[in-house]
Amino acid sequence: MNYHQYFPVDVINGPGTRATLFVSGCVHQCRGCYNQSTWNPCHGHEFDLQMQDQVLRDLKDTRIKRRGLSLSGGDPLFPANLTAILALVKRVKTECPEKDIWLWSGYRLDELSDAQKAVIAYVDVLVDGKFEQALADPSLQFKGSSNQVIHCLT
Ligand code: SF4
Repeated sequence: MNYHQYFPVDVINGPGTRATLFVSGCVHQCRGCYNQSTWNPCHGHEFDLQMQDQVLRDLKDTRIKRRGLSLSGGDPLFPANLTAILALVKRVKTECPEKDIWLWSGYRLDELSDAQKAVIAYVDVLVDGKFEQALADPSLQFKGSSNQVIHCLT
């Protein structure tokens, strides 16, 4: 898996102070997508073990307390991302069980494959659905268009 950007401290993408990873790879091609460069799974940098360690270090950092981890993109549930994302969410819930995980995906909860559901089993909040330009509303919190749904899973 490649990633587009990593914010070790973020107060925009989800509640509280968080670490946020924007992965590469997305098939949804939403009109008005805010970052088409993330569609290409080869875009950005490799999310290797060092980066995984970095995310865990940041979540454990007591100087700037993070409430949790946000996973966005691109699409964290893009099929080629699932192995790396599953390893990451498992490790977060093992080493930092008190941290919440939010995940944004263009796939809807009711259309997830078994492999995608295996990731969601470790996720606290899923914000699902494609971005619909006609339903875009900048006043919405944590989502771009009104068709998207915030599912609290835990
Ligand atoms: S799901 Fe997100 S990244 Fe993918 S095309 Fe839609 S808005 Fe862009």
